[in-house]
Amino acid sequence: VSIFDNAVLIPTDSIFDVTRRYLADETPDKVNLGQGTYRDENGKPWILPSVRMAKASIGECGHEYLPISGLKAFRDEAAKLAFRGTRALDEDRIATCQSLSGTGALLLAGMALKKADSGITTIYITDPTWSNHSLMFSSLGYEVKTIPYYKQGRFDFDNYMSVLRTADANSAVVLHACAHNPTGCDPSREQWKEIASVIQERRIFPIFDSAYLGFNSGSVNEDAWAIRYFVEDLGLEASVCLSFAKSMGLYGERIGLVTFVTASVKIACTMGSILENMQRATVSNPPAYGARIAAAVLGTPAIAEQWAKDLITMSSRIKSMRQKLYSELTSLQTPGDWSHLIKQTGMFGYTGISPAQVAYLEGEYLHVSRYEHFVHGANYVTDKHHVYMAETSRISIAGLNEGNVTYFARALDDAVR
Ligand code: PLP
Repeated sequence: VSIFDNAVLIPTDSIFDVTRRYLADETPDKVNLGQGTYRDENGKPWILPSVRMAKASIGECGHEYLPISGLKAFRDEAAKLAFRGTRALDEDRIATCQSLSGTGALLLAGMALKKADSGITTIYITDPTWSNHSLMFSSLGYEVKTIPYYKQGRFDFDNYMSVLRTADANSAVVLHACAHNPTGCDPSREQWKEIASVIQERRIFPIFDSAYLGFNSGSVNEDAWAIRYFVEDLGLEASVCLSFAKSMGLYGERIGLVTFVTASVKIACTMGSILENMQRATVSNPPAYGARIAAAVLGTPAIAEQWAKDLITMSSRIKSMRQKLYSELTSLQTPGDWSHLIKQTGMFGYTGISPAQVAYLEGEYLHVSRYEHFVHGANYVTDKHHVYMAETSRISIAGLNEGNVTYFARALDDAVR
C-alpha cells in the first residue's frame, strides 16, 4: 500500500521528449527541428558575442541572494527595452519583477491577477499556441478557453475576432507580442488595431507573452510595436511577460521579467508588492547570473550595440533558411503550396503536414548501427529520415543550416509524396 496508489502517470512533455529521442539517435545525419533553440550555421548552440562581452565585464560578484523582486538594474533596463518612449514608463506606472524566464513571468502574472482580486476567471489562449499556456493557466485554476487562430496557412482573423468579441471583463487574453508560436503568423498592424479596440471595448485584460522581442525582426522597437500600441496609443493596462531565453540565447539561465502596466503610480506600487509576494511564495528569489548578464548587455552601450548586431545575425540567418527551404522544395516540385513558409515569421515554420508524416520523417528509431542498416537493407528500417520535429508539424527553422537544409527538403518531399 502506498499513499501514491491513486496517482496517475503523466506522459512527459512532448517537445522535451522530441529532444530526448533526438539525443538518443546515433545517426550522424539526424536533424533536430523540435525545440525552439537557436543554432548557428554549423548547427551548434550559439553564445552571443554580446553575452561573452557581458560575462567578461561582470567578473567576480559572489553568490549572495538577490532581492525577492530580482536585480534592480536588470528590471529597470528590461522595462526600458520593452516600454521605451511610453508615458507609463516615464510616469513610473509599471510594476516589474524578475522571473524564471518567460514561463515564470506568465506564472507570476497569473498568480498576481488572482491575488489582486482582479475578477479574472477565464484566460483566452490561441488555438494552436505554445503548449504550456493551457497547462499553466489551468493549473492556476483559471478556466482556459481557446480562440481559433490559424486557417490554411494564415492568421484566421475573422474567426479570431468573432470569438474574442464573446469575451468579457472577467477574462484575460494571452497575446503573442510577435512571432506567434507555433504558426509564425502575426496580425498585421491594422488587425492589431482592431484586436486592441475589441479588448478595450469589452474590458478584456491583455497579457502579452513576449518571448521573442528583437529576435523576430532583428529590431526590438519593431517587435514591440503591438505592446506599445496598446500601452501608449490606447493607454490600456496590461501585463507584459518578457523572456531573454531566445533574444540573448540565455535559455538555461532562466531570465525574464513580468510587468504590469497600470493606471497609476499607486496601483503599480501595489501590483509590485503582489508580484514580490507571489515570488516569495513560489521561488523566494530569482537566480542572479542571467540577470547580471542581461543587465550588462542592456545597460552598457558598447555591449548593447553588439547585441543589436547579434539580433540581426540570428534573425537574418533564420530568414535565409526559410528562403532556402522554400527554394529547395520548389526545385524538387514537392506537391503542395509551401509559400506559407516564407510568409511566416519568427523561429518556427508551421509546415501543415500530418502527424503520420511527422512520424514518418522521424522514422522508427532502432538501436542498430548504420552498418546494420546497410546489411539488412533499405527495408529493415522502413522510415529513416531521422528528422525530429513537433507532432503539431512545427519545425524550428533555427535548426536548419546550409549543411542540412537540402537533406531536410528531400526528406519532407519524400514524406508528402
Ligand atoms: N511563450 C512562448 C510563446 C514561447 O514560445 C516560449 C518559449 O518557447 C515561452 C513563452 C517561454 O520560454 P522561456 O520560459 O524559456 O523563456
